[in-house]
Amino acid sequence: MAGDMSMPRRAFLGGVTALGAMSGLRMPAHAAVSPSVANLPARSNVVIRNAYVMTMEPSQPDLPNGDLHVDNGLIVDVGTGLAAPGAQVIDGRGFIVMPGLIDTHWHMWTTLLRNMSGDDRAHGYFPMTTALGKVYTPRDMYYGTLLSSAEALHSGITTVHNWCHNVMSYEHAVEDLRAMQETGLRGRFSYGPARSTPLTQPFSVADLERMHGDWASLSNEGLLTLGIAWRGVQAALPNAEGKMELRPLSPDMYRVEYEAARRLGLPVSVHLNSTKFDKGHIIALHKLGYVFDGLQVIHAINTSPEEMDILAAAGASVSISPASEMRIGFGLPKVAEYLDHKVNLALSVDTTPLTGNADMFGIMKLAQNLENGRSESEFKLPARKVVELATIEGAKALGLAERTGSLKKGKRADVIMVSTREVNIGPFTEPAYMLVDSAQASNVDTVLVDGRILKRNGKLTAIDVGKLMDEASAATQSIKQRANWK
Ligand SMILES: [Zn+2]
Repeated sequence: MAGDMSMPRRAFLGGVTALGAMSGLRMPAHAAVSPSVANLPARSNVVIRNAYVMTMEPSQPDLPNGDLHVDNGLIVDVGTGLAAPGAQVIDGRGFIVMPGLIDTHWHMWTTLLRNMSGDDRAHGYFPMTTALGKVYTPRDMYYGTLLSSAEALHSGITTVHNWCHNVMSYEHAVEDLRAMQETGLRGRFSYGPARSTPLTQPFSVADLERMHGDWASLSNEGLLTLGIAWRGVQAALPNAEGKMELRPLSPDMYRVEYEAARRLGLPVSVHLNSTKFDKGHIIALHKLGYVFDGLQVIHAINTSPEEMDILAAAGASVSISPASEMRIGFGLPKVAEYLDHKVNLALSVDTTPLTGNADMFGIMKLAQNLENGRSESEFKLPARKVVELATIEGAKALGLAERTGSLKKGKRADVIMVSTREVNIGPFTEPAYMLVDSAQASNVDTVLVDGRILKRNGKLTAIDVGKLMDEASAATQSIKQRANWK
């Protein structure tokens, strides 16, 4: 597969280099493979004035007529009437200015398979992604994550956790990661097995070590961090009669992967307690001494109070993805119960073949609605708490709270402007309610990641969506043909 890739990439690189020279833009470390992606814009010196600023800093009130000054990737100041000499001025009137939204678990490569989870068993999410994932080339990984990254920026998501569980070769991982580098997102790349890797076989630890060793050149100037996408120590699997039963997994797989991560100082992320057939997984990890502050557990719908206390005591985090969990029939994720147990809880997209899109506002709304519905209380989950889950709590879950997740002097400038003057959201009333009840991705007017303006006036600044759709559509058609998927 590596041989297939080299020719077209060289051809593309020539074109992109020429374009970069003509436009006078600084070439990024990794020239774009796709002609739909332009070089990243420079980090701006910009002041947003007279906006409704929600800093999401604990115990800090909103600034109803606030300014935010950003320069060279940093938040210089947030307040009222800031001086900011020489800075480009953006009129913030009519906008909520807030930290960029944070996704904490997303299989970004799967977006080429959007709307392909069928409504019969043979075409369900797992058989579909396994059958089609097997034929992915490194270039397909790139396009899947490129489309996801474009949608993240469109939706005001500035940090993602790219949970890559289709690493068929080192090049598959590198090409997937390349899409994050080219689009300028902040995030974690979690290195995992392939969709088709047997549960008895570990992923390539040698390749993980190679990626870790090369990380200084792969991290996109520190925007990206590395972790592992782990399969845990037990799984619910069908028995001979087709009934689901809980089985322990092989230490030859789980121990090798887990210990490699710990040896390299990497965080570990695992799906567990996802359905009624998978229970007690956190207890099992605890017995092995595997629960630590770099552990993130995903879904965790069937988690006992005892397990919640184990997570809280260790400083481990939980990522729920209500849109996918309900669509696939896992059940209703827990929200208030985790918060009562003081667990670091955050939100995630998971996979667009189940969720349809990556609208974090919709995910926030689902989280609130399902919790209020379950508790039969209009007041169970306050809107502002939900916004915290999608911002500062997400940053904590990814170990990034020193850099992002709130608007604070000295943090990196991951900022979004949400328009309140559109038909689905106005008139301006209570901002936290506006974000959770009304806002949609299309209301995101401006997005800065690390001080770069990547969406402005509702349009992506460095991605040509028309060209990207042509390329992504061609990739999807080719995947379906190669897999003979009907
Ligand atoms: Zn997942």
